[in-house]
Amino acid sequence: MSVPIYWRESKYRYKLIGSECMKCHKRFYPPKRVCPVCGSRELKDVKLPDKGHVVTYTIIRVPPKGYEEYAPYPIALIELEDGTRLIAQLTDVDPKDVKIGMVVKATFRKLSEIGRDGIIQYGVKFRPLIENES
Ligand SMILES: [Zn+2]
Repeated sequence: MSVPIYWRESKYRYKLIGSECMKCHKRFYPPKRVCPVCGSRELKDVKLPDKGHVVTYTIIRVPPKGYEEYAPYPIALIELEDGTRLIAQLTDVDPKDVKIGMVVKATFRKLSEIGRDGIIQYGVKFRPLIENES
């Protein structure tokens, strides 16, 4: 099954929205309602930078249900340009080519298909930055 182009490439639909604690100013993705650092409930939505680098990664060879078609696939701890860290799947890269420090960019992709009714989850994945891309 192919994913419509606009879901993959649209710069307009895509936004990486996290939350920022109004008290300690830490940022989180996915967004949280309570700050895990200071316990504050005052968090606001913030648009996070869509570029970062791979801090560490692991290759998933035995995936959870619904992700079988993607295995093996890399999952990385990514640090965004503002210092926010998140865990996301890497895409458009051979697992053996993933490197620590690799610069990556967020992209909006199909995450999984669940069940016979084919409920599709979309979400953020990261792909290697293409040369000359800003
Ligand atoms: Zn806080």
